[in-house]
Amino acid sequence: MTTSVLSVASEVFPLIKTGGLADVAGALPLALAEHGFAVRTLMPGYPDVLKRVGRGKIACRFANLFGGKAEILAVRYGELDLLVLDAPHLFDRPGGPYVTPAGYDHPDNWARFAALSKAGAAVAQGAIAGFSPDIVHAHDWQAALTPVYLAVSNKPRPRTVVTIHNLAFQGNYPSSIFADLGLPATTWSIEGVEYYGNVGYLKGGLHAADVVTTVSPTYAEEILTPEGGMGLDGLLRGLGDRLVGIVNGIDVEVWDPQSDPAIAKAYSARSPKARSHNKRALEGEFGLRRDDGPIFAVVSRLTWQKGLDLVANACDDLVERGIRLVVVGSGDQMIEGQFLAAHARHPDRVGVRIGYDETLSHRVQAGADAILIPSRFEPCGLTQLYGLRYGCIPIVTKVGGLADTVIDANYAATSAGVATGIIFSPPAAPALVEAAERAHRLYDDGKRWRDMQICAMNADVSWRASARLYADLYRDLIKE
Ligand code: ADP
Repeated sequence: MTTSVLSVASEVFPLIKTGGLADVAGALPLALAEHGFAVRTLMPGYPDVLKRVGRGKIACRFANLFGGKAEILAVRYGELDLLVLDAPHLFDRPGGPYVTPAGYDHPDNWARFAALSKAGAAVAQGAIAGFSPDIVHAHDWQAALTPVYLAVSNKPRPRTVVTIHNLAFQGNYPSSIFADLGLPATTWSIEGVEYYGNVGYLKGGLHAADVVTTVSPTYAEEILTPEGGMGLDGLLRGLGDRLVGIVNGIDVEVWDPQSDPAIAKAYSARSPKARSHNKRALEGEFGLRRDDGPIFAVVSRLTWQKGLDLVANACDDLVERGIRLVVVGSGDQMIEGQFLAAHARHPDRVGVRIGYDETLSHRVQAGADAILIPSRFEPCGLTQLYGLRYGCIPIVTKVGGLADTVIDANYAATSAGVATGIIFSPPAAPALVEAAERAHRLYDDGKRWRDMQICAMNADVSWRASARLYADLYRDLIKE
């Protein structure tokens, strides 16, 4: 029997993406289909999304959803079964999903994502004829009010799951918006959405959900501590075994070096030497000098969380050690500036592209020898999984999902032939440079590097194992 699930997310790959959340919201439904779950995904109708999916069929209407008329359009996009919330007063505007063209938060984000959640709750309780989900799965703060709206309704409701993709983003707003959320006064409380005198969307969702998941077992432990809990550790500790860590997978069809149309030459774990064509192509694309040394890469938001200030500060050290660097990313202007300055100092050794470029990220993973991910915290991280799949050895800090998905090339792991990358700690420049040196030595060894690459490429980074865990969790919830 098919069980139906409503997933609510503010971004869904390939339609709109600012980070890993989109990859998960886009890929998990397909993986769950194999376990007998039919997932429909509710997402905002941003202009680009509506342009790409077309008009679809009107599945339901709202006369007034946070200040204007809205409709939910039912549409298929590839294998995704989408419900697109078309609310022009909230979503039809330039800029990104969360920010204006000038990079500031949309001032009404509180209303935009309360609307997404309210629509989610309505759909969960039968607003669309013929659809009554057994499970509602809300992703991150943008969807976290969904279980809150459901909890206060007196109609029967499905079981609810909230997934934390990054606790650093919580959706906290001044108390003045509370009256406009349409929630009963009782929710202005410790068990509701009140959060140190503000309204906390994620906080409210964590309280209201039947189960809370996050995206790796190690992160599920880290967020129980005052350092990792970002103010919510007390609440999270109170969840006990209602908090579960499940590592993300990746879409191994989109990310497949054997069939990737973006890369210069296809290759696989059986033909890793063919990667060298992609390395030459990458050197050409970034104007790097050709030599026998390794190329280390960064593909990331350039932020403090990602530890990229450490790489920016270590550029000269790395170059001195014969390492060339390729950096693709955008974010913190100071870090961007540091990388551009490093490029100016070493034009043929440090290549930099400021911006977001999905196809280029494939070419980097296929051509670079290693991918640097020195995050200070990392709920799961997808970049290291792409690196594993493409034989681009991840050099990562020992935090969150990085620690859960990479096997360090220490003596035991290399002897047993199971190493897939380099893990270092703490997230600081000396440890980073030492890890880079260790990687360089392995690279120079040739055979040990090749063995590690093959091992990395053979690691199972698909959704297979994790989709089963989500499926079990859903089944247990329905049984309860
Ligand atoms: P986060 O969601 O915290 O940014 P993840 O590692 O979970 O980090 O996911 C980041 C995703 O965004 C990955 O798919 C990564 O390849 C992609 N990405 C980040 N920056 C860029 C960029 N500048 N160009 C292309 N892809 C990028």
